[in-house]
Amino acid sequence: MQTLNDIRLYDEQSTRTLDTEEVAEYLQARTGCRAVSRYGPFSLEYSTPEKQSVLGEQIARLKVHDVDAPPGEYDPAYAEVEFERRRLTNRDRGPFGILYDGFGFQRLLRGLLPPDRGGLDRVHVVFTNRTIGTWDEDDKRYHLRAIVLGIPAIISTTGLVEAPAKPREFYLARQQMGLAARPELTHALLKQQFGDQFLDHDDPRLTQVAKGYAMQAVVYQVTGEAFCTAPDCRLFNAHWQRQLIRAQLEGPREYCARHEQLLAAMRRQARGA
Ligand SMILES: [Zn+2]
Repeated sequence: MQTLNDIRLYDEQSTRTLDTEEVAEYLQARTGCRAVSRYGPFSLEYSTPEKQSVLGEQIARLKVHDVDAPPGEYDPAYAEVEFERRRLTNRDRGPFGILYDGFGFQRLLRGLLPPDRGGLDRVHVVFTNRTIGTWDEDDKRYHLRAIVLGIPAIISTTGLVEAPAKPREFYLARQQMGLAARPELTHALLKQQFGDQFLDHDDPRLTQVAKGYAMQAVVYQVTGEAFCTAPDCRLFNAHWQRQLIRAQLEGPREYCARHEQLLAAMRRQARGA
């Protein structure tokens, strides 16, 4: 098991209901890791204003324009580059409709890390409201992601809402209402009908859900194993909203027996036992 010396959470503060202080306290309590700290946006933490000008262009190149086309070099227009430059330093993080290549974004951020911060004993968790996707070789298209594991791990708060699918009945009902109602009215009606069966933007349960996803990043780094197959374990890779709700918010315990043992071992290791 990889020793864990440092967990860093990066928060661009674009999501009202995400409380990273609570996430940090949770990780500290469950892993025993003594150094759990919080920072502002990753891209500002590890870059200079000069670098940010280049960074804006690099991020604009990661935009996915066609979910059915494999990753390729996109040549952004001047306005798109300017938009990304502004977005880096602007608190108002703007629309989350743009899709970015998740692995490309991760590579870009990893490249900003000073060499002494990139060790395997350190976990970096980046929270963003950017919509991220990864290319799937099997069905030849991009899929939205809630999390991209690795260094740094990227958790998309938009992805938590949009990546796991909502109940089929939701899409059917939306289709039926779609033509008759204004979008915001449709959303309110669907919310009424399906209530807490899915996570919504600025959902008050978001911090609770983020704890489990941050733990997925930690466990992956410590064990090299991605996700868990037990549907009641918070490390479960949810493809449906109801699976996410079950794994993160319901169920008799937080983790499966194997992962509870792992966390206990991590706490012992942190105490030096
Ligand atoms: Zn598990």
